[in-house]
Amino acid sequence: MTLLKGKKALIFGIANKRSIAWGVAQAFQEQGATLGLSYAGEALKKRALPLAESIGVNFIEQCDVTEDGQIDSIAEKAKAEFGEIDILVHAIAFAKRDELSGPYYNTSREGFSMAMDISVYSFIALARAFQPIMRPGGSLLTMTYYGSDKVTGHYNIMGVAKAALESSVRYLARDFGPQEIRVNAISAGPIRTLAAAGIYGFRDMYSHFLETAPLKQHITPKDVGGAAVFLSSDLASKITGEILFVDSGYNIIGMSESEE
Ligand code: NAP
Repeated sequence: MTLLKGKKALIFGIANKRSIAWGVAQAFQEQGATLGLSYAGEALKKRALPLAESIGVNFIEQCDVTEDGQIDSIAEKAKAEFGEIDILVHAIAFAKRDELSGPYYNTSREGFSMAMDISVYSFIALARAFQPIMRPGGSLLTMTYYGSDKVTGHYNIMGVAKAALESSVRYLARDFGPQEIRVNAISAGPIRTLAAAGIYGFRDMYSHFLETAPLKQHITPKDVGGAAVFLSSDLASKITGEILFVDSGYNIIGMSESEE
């Protein structure tokens, strides 16, 4: 289990043990990576710290990605701790709960800006802040969802934000390519996490998923962790600008059998 041996990875977006970021952290550690973790705010500290401790990770830092100062500060701390890093994982998104129900045209100006800032701009800002300490052969990875491309339940502004995030993956892949750093996204099927709980009708979406997905299996953070290991390892050294679906094949279905 040494696919990431010798690599240093920083993972953003640890809220609790259900977080996709936590699934990725565990998978990375199993594959021999040295880890640093980050959580959003004081409220999450009491959950994030014991998780870090449970896998022997000492670098666990708060970073609210809406604050440029906090992004600069964590980049400086990472430089002091690790020198250079190989992998950065962005597993962060946010939209106000009332933007995730009802018609999309009711999206407020403020809600639009906040969702785009936290869910999209933060990936660009982190990429820029860490560029000076990213080692050639490195990998930047973010998390997206199929609602970027197809109208999905009440995903609303998050769908539009994920479309912008996926486009950002391609532009960043172009920018970082000459530095031999790859930029990709994983598009996961629905997983019961804190962020998902904010989406109106998520429970229906979650059960409908099983009826449609060819593999008839739900996705776990561990599944995403496995794909993240691959994309961040040297096995994927010529893959950049891609969106990799980890969704039991859901995205290939046009019309499910129950609808025919
Ligand atoms: P999660 O555990 O709630 O993780 C989301 C993380 O984003 C939380 O740690 C959250 O912290 C953080 N965040 C929000 N605002 C932030 C800010 N200003 N600064 C720093 N961090 C902030 O949920 P998750 O499902 O694992 O989400 C991780 C990623 O996977 C997201 O991009 C999500 O869209 C994506 N994804 C999820 C699913 C799914 O079904 N769960 C499917 C596909 C893609 P707070 O709790 O403090 O807000």
